[in-house]
Formats: sequence, C-alpha cells, structure tokens
Amino acid sequence: MSAMPANDTELTDLVSPTPQERVSDYVRVSDRAYLHAGHQRVRMVYATRTGSMVAVPEEAGRRLARGTLEGIAPELLDGLREIEAVVTDGRGELDTVLDRQRAATASLSDLRYVLLPTTYCNMGCSYCGQQHTRGRLSGSHRDAVARRVLAGIGRKTTRTVTVSWFGAEPMIGYPMILDLSARFTAAAHDRGVGYVSGMVTNGTLLTLDKLRVLRQECHVAKYDITLDGPARIHDAHRPLRSGRKSFDRITRVLLEALQDDTLADVTFVLRSNIDVANADWVAEYLDTMATLGFADNRVFFNLAPVYSWGNDVSRIELDRRYYGQREVEWMRRMHGLGLHFVALPTEPERVLCAAVSQSVEIHSSSGAMFSCSEYPLVPQQEAAGGLGSIETLPVHAPRPLGPFDDWHDAVAAGETACHACYFFPICGGACPKQWREGNTPCPPYKFTLQERFDLVAEMNGLTPAPC
Ligand code: SF4
Ligand code: SF4
Repeated sequence: MSAMPANDTELTDLVSPTPQERVSDYVRVSDRAYLHAGHQRVRMVYATRTGSMVAVPEEAGRRLARGTLEGIAPELLDGLREIEAVVTDGRGELDTVLDRQRAATASLSDLRYVLLPTTYCNMGCSYCGQQHTRGRLSGSHRDAVARRVLAGIGRKTTRTVTVSWFGAEPMIGYPMILDLSARFTAAAHDRGVGYVSGMVTNGTLLTLDKLRVLRQECHVAKYDITLDGPARIHDAHRPLRSGRKSFDRITRVLLEALQDDTLADVTFVLRSNIDVANADWVAEYLDTMATLGFADNRVFFNLAPVYSWGNDVSRIELDRRYYGQREVEWMRRMHGLGLHFVALPTEPERVLCAAVSQSVEIHSSSGAMFSCSEYPLVPQQEAAGGLGSIETLPVHAPRPLGPFDDWHDAVAAGETACHACYFFPICGGACPKQWREGNTPCPPYKFTLQERFDLVAEMNGLTPAPC
C-alpha cells in the first residue's frame, strides 16, 4: 500500500479532470478514516483493476466514494490514473478487464503442466474428493507424459515451462519425478527455455536430502504443504493411513530446510483447510508456528475454507461470511506474530486457473488429460475420460478445449454474478467449476472488505481516526 502525496490543504490548487474521465466502477473507498503520520486524516482506496490499495486525503476519498473527480488535486489525480482508479474507458470496463484476461489466457508462450506421478496417497483426509489406489504407472504412460512436455518445451513460441507435481501424494512417485525432471530440465536448457517447478504435497515424505535433490536436479523451488492445525488437530484432521502422526515430522523437516543454504531460494506456502472441526484451533496453530520459527519471509500462510470437490462437505463446511470474519481475526494475529500472508490480492487476475487456458494441461496418473485440477482421480470424472488419453492425443496440438474454456464469454453473458462484481478483476470469478455445480465460490474478502481496509491500514502504521 502507498500513501498518495496530496493532502487536504493541496485541494485549494484545483484543476478539473478531463471531461471523459471518471471514477472506475472497480474502486471502493473505506467507510472509516485513519490517521497518517499521527495527524493527517486519510481514507483507503482499493482499485481492483490493478489490485492497488492507497491512502488518500479524507476529502478526496469522500469525493471518490461519491463518484466525482471535481476538486481532486492534480498530482493525486495522476496517481489515481496510474492505478486505474480513474479511467477513460469509452465502453464498459468489464470488456476491458475481460479482454486483458482473454489475452493472457490465449497466450501459449508460458506453458504449465500439472503432473500426477502416482495414484496413491498415504493420507485419508475426510474432505478429499479423490479416490486413491495403489499401483505402478506404466512405462508407456510415463513416456506419453514426457512426449507432451518435451513437445511443449520444443515449440518455437514457448518462453517458459512450469511443471507442477501434484497428487494424490506426488512424493510417492519420487522416482518418476526424478526421471521426468532430468529429461525436462535438459531439454529446456538445450532450447534456452525457462524451466521452473513446484509441488503440492502433504509433506510427510519430504526429507532434507530429497528437498536438496528436488531443488538441484528437478528445479523444484516452491512447495504447497497442508497443515490443518496444531499437532493434535492436524494429526486428526489429516490422518495418515498408517495411523502415525505427521505434524512434528513435517515441521521439523521444513525448519531444517529454512536453515539450509542450498535451499535459500525455496519458498513454502502452508495451507490450512478450515472447517467446523479445526476452526477453533487456528489461533493456537498460528501461535505454535510462530514459536517454532515460521515467521520467515520464505513461508506464506494460506488459510482456506473447506469446500466441495464434488463430494458432500455440507456437514463440515463453514458459512463463507462467518469464515471471512474469522479469517480477518487470524490475519491480525498473524501480523502480530510476524507470519506472512496476503490480506487482499495485490495484482489483477490474468489466468484464473488451469481450466480456462490451453496453456495449462493436467496429466492424471490414470492416463487421462484434464483441464480442471479437481477432476483427476475423482471417480465420476475419471469414468468420463476427461479430454482424452494422454497417449493418443496429438502431441503437437494444445490440449483440447475443456468444460470451462468458455469462462470469459460466460462472464460477459452474465452467467454468474461476476459480471457485475466489483472484485472481478482480482478474483476472476474464483472457480468456474463451482459456479456450474451450483455453488457460490466467492472468496472470503468479498464479505469483509471494510475489515480488511482496517487490517491493511494497521499493517501500514495508520491508526483509526476519531469520528
Ligand atoms: S466469484 Fe464472487 S467475488 Fe469473485 S468475481 Fe464472482 S461474484 Fe465477485
Ligand atoms: S475450475 Fe475451479 S477447481 Fe477447476 S481448476 Fe479452475 S479453480 Fe480449480
């Protein structure tokens, strides 16, 4: 967040905005005022076209909230133009936003492959919608996956390739990760194509040695690991099929990794899936993590409400508005503890998810290709065969269109509330799959914007102004 330069006294030096300029529809102003530097009254402005939050003099904030630019100081107006809080769009702003998203999703220069190297997971979480089975993947499946990724690396238009290892639990397929990564990194190096990799894992099979190998040989530099509470809560919420516990082991390995010089550029996102069973223990979890030493600028905390993967989670799901309020409390606590998190998006959404861009393909360990990351290993979706077999789809063509590649047209046509939503540029509509299954996937910040204004103000040293 930045403070805009003008103050109320500068409002005496007025110029009118150009006639066609107006306040963007994608601007919100805080209801409350705050004190900047102990005395200057400001309001917060959030411009979702660019994901920018700024503090402006209170009177200017009032004018913006009323939708008028008259009387706003010229240098402040310049700053507001830059963050697209003030716009000149002749046509609807939604078209501009959608055009940007369409351009990003249509580009095939940055390719991403989400690869499942196994069908099995050593955990049995109640909220998971996948079905896991033991068994080795065939050599022909592995070769088919390799062919497609290598073809992508070899395409003239490719600038970067990202490989995301996904599961089931991907570390069960560790030998396949090593084998495929060796082929991918060599090809990317030969072609001068950027190559980055990450992994979504339950963390139980990681060791310091494996993290080092994954970094050095497989270029894995980002991990998404789920911890659902303090030790006893996590161990109950995410039970290992063996009956063993995992919290202490996962956190010990992560702390070792944070101390290891060879892993200095590796980042960790610690996700917590929150439902009725663990919501009351989130505060204790955050305190525990801070005490253990996770207030580190390479560790990001991502709290998320449990939602349906097509399975019935209605008994354990929290009401979104209630969840949103609790999340702000937890974020305030994280701020106090020095833990890192994102209170509000700071950039517009470009490529919402795998399902809306042919630059992303998902290779299930079943042999089927998907576009949505919540389809692999979900029995009903696997039975339908996805977008086709990885072994037989033409290797030099992008993946076939999936069920959600029409998302931008659907938003333009008003299929969901997103077309009229102030959050659309930063949210992108959250999840096409959920909308089409009849759920409303709005993120928690939609229901708690004022509370987040207060939080961001506090995080930036602003104090509540007296009424
Ligand atoms: S998902 Fe909800 S918050 Fe996001 S753009 Fe659509 S209506 Fe808005
Ligand atoms: S449609 Fe929803 S579940 Fe599927 S990839 Fe996109 S965000 Fe994920």
